Amino acid sequence: MSLNNIRIVMINTSHPGNIGAAARVMKNMGLTRLYLVNPKQFPNYEATAMASGADDLLSQAIVCSSFEEALEGCRLVLGTTARERKIQHEFVNARDAGVLSISESQQHEVALVFGRERTGLTNDEIGLCHKLINIPTNPDYSSLNVASAVQIVSYEVMMSLHLLNQENVGLNANQNELDTEESADYASSENMERFYEHLQQTLIEIDFLHLEQSPQLMPKLRHIYNRIRLKQEELNILRGILSKTQKLK
Ligand code: SAH
Repeated sequence: MSLNNIRIVMINTSHPGNIGAAARVMKNMGLTRLYLVNPKQFPNYEATAMASGADDLLSQAIVCSSFEEALEGCRLVLGTTARERKIQHEFVNARDAGVLSISESQQHEVALVFGRERTGLTNDEIGLCHKLINIPTNPDYSSLNVASAVQIVSYEVMMSLHLLNQENVGLNANQNELDTEESADYASSENMERFYEHLQQTLIEIDFLHLEQSPQLMPKLRHIYNRIRLKQEELNILRGILSKTQKLK
């Protein structure tokens, strides 16, 4: 078992020192894949200084011009946030997020997403996350430094792998095969995005959606589908229904 399928995505980071500090704690915890969405300054000497020996992670870091690009190939996207949002989204704590990331990463790519230092993640970005991770804190002072948040989540991922490796000693091989079959085949982020475009287009065509009058409808629909986590086969059925609906119009 390895951590190769887990990527850390940092969005629009202002301070390059935070990128370096995040790389350092990732390497401590055995994670290697860092994605940077529009970092304010990168590469940068402060990032290299704070990475302190984890500069290999910085030189391999993938700089992306959009969040969607950073999520390519992922089938589980977990965002992190300090505060509760108006839009209801399923929250998990960092410990459960570690367990979930490890179990899902045995089958497919997982993204752990961290927001801007001052403003965190936008609602649109949250709309691309299947669940949100909250690190329990003092409720009166809940906002951690972003690299500290990367540290805690990475530690929980590492700890969960450690516990799983211990449990797996002596585990029956047939059981492993069963687990693999059950959790495979979730729809990718790209295919979910195509589905949402198709859904929006169809709802407009059948006169159900008027974007200016109901700007919250698509975020709410995303929330419903994120909660279910569709398999590719199920997504194909929904796309089929949408295509047929479009033809009836
Ligand atoms: N006001 C912002 C705080 C940003 S802190 C917000 O509400 O999100 C910068 C980043 O650190 C956040 O985007 C998140 O990725 C992470 N972070 C900080 N505190 C956190 C906490 N208690 N739980 C989970 N993530 C946290």
